[in-house]
Amino acid sequence: MKSTPDKFQEIREAVRALCADYPDEYHREIDEQRGYPEAFVDALTKAGCLAAMIPQEYGGSGLGLTEASVIMEEINRSGGNAGACHGQMYNMGTLLRHGSEAQKKDYLPKIASGDLRLQSMGVTEPGTGTDTTKIKTTAVKKGDRYVVNGQKVWISRIQHSDLMILLARTTPLVDVKKKSEGMSIFVVDLRTAIGKGMTVRPIRNMVNHETNELFFDNLEIPAQNLIGEEGKGFRYILDGLNAERTLIAAECIGDGYWFIDRVTKYVKDRVVFGRPIGQNQGVQFPIAESYIEVEAANLMRWKACELFDAHQPCGAEANMAKYLAAKASWEAANACLQFHGGFGFASEYDVERKFRETRLYQVAPISTNLILSYVAEHILDLPRSF
Ligand SMILES: Cc1cc2nc3c(=O)[nH]c(=O)nc-3n(C[C@H](O)[C@H](O)[C@H](O)COP(=O)(O)OP(=O)(O)OC[C@H]3O[C@@H](n4cnc5c(N)ncnc54)[C@H](O)[C@@H]3O)c2cc1C
Repeated sequence: MKSTPDKFQEIREAVRALCADYPDEYHREIDEQRGYPEAFVDALTKAGCLAAMIPQEYGGSGLGLTEASVIMEEINRSGGNAGACHGQMYNMGTLLRHGSEAQKKDYLPKIASGDLRLQSMGVTEPGTGTDTTKIKTTAVKKGDRYVVNGQKVWISRIQHSDLMILLARTTPLVDVKKKSEGMSIFVVDLRTAIGKGMTVRPIRNMVNHETNELFFDNLEIPAQNLIGEEGKGFRYILDGLNAERTLIAAECIGDGYWFIDRVTKYVKDRVVFGRPIGQNQGVQFPIAESYIEVEAANLMRWKACELFDAHQPCGAEANMAKYLAAKASWEAANACLQFHGGFGFASEYDVERKFRETRLYQVAPISTNLILSYVAEHILDLPRSF
């Protein structure tokens, strides 16, 4: 399939070469075992891919979200699933932009070398869902510690991470002027927290995505693990969420190209009624439409990356990129499954696996409805519905 060459060919080729050592069979087997792609993530770490955004002075490559997004796109385009490791990229952004010099010196070189993994971010709670400012998890300062109590749900990669960024309320909602105030973010060292105030319950789910329910019962965190100023955590986490949405947009674009590649090849080869099925316009048009939509979503992804890297407001573009890309990859997935006929359901074709994987992004990290609501109310200034 032809795609427009860009200035990232060197990164693309390096990631493609690495991914080539982890072919479809590898990802299929991991999916069947509901395992974690340890060897693949280790190889990405060793190659410096997951430290792309760490400044060179801390041992990383000093690249931006733009380049990081190319890495994630290529993983998904190769048939893999960057969901196993994308957390490190956007969590890094939060630490980089809002962490103290001491925190950066302490963590970043070890993350760059692969000695530490920062793959998890704990925001969502069972009782509040998308209504994040109503979170019930509290962190109360007691001397040189914060004591955390509460619960989180759908917190990914905890079992394969050493550190987590946690959002908790430090001032009760009734005592703040704006509901977005009074929340703070912390670095939680999972190696010491689990079993000592923090319990993890894995959630089996439709995708092979390692995700968990977390329970905090008087978990103690050293006060120095607070990131930035107390009470401003929601603003800090939004930066991370914008990075996350943009990276996931790039992953969906990678998925979209993967589906289009696969289905294009298949419909050229598959002969029914004496001719390739791809000769029928009823087959061609949904594939062509998906390609148009993936290409269009890609433009918004570059715009979001550019704004994020220039430290400009990018909430609208990050959300719109994620919306367009997740929709485009889902339509491409549908066309790919449909035109593989029965074979689309056979695991050995990998279509059903990628189909499940890309479906997640209509719901997480933010659902399509909430993006529409954001655009309606924050961009178009329509009356607030909540
Ligand atoms: C596999 C997986 C991994 C995840 N990983 C993480 C993670 O690492 N860290 C983390 O913090 N979270 C994580 N999440 C959580 C994810 O971000 C949330 O599931 C997502 O934001 C939706 O929240 P919810 O599930 O509470 O849905 P709800 O908020 O309960 O919403 C349910 C549905 O109702 C709709 N809805 C809700 N309110 C409105 C409204 N006002 N108008 C219109 N429609 C509305 C939504 O569109 C949605 O489809 C993960 C989720 C999954 C499934």
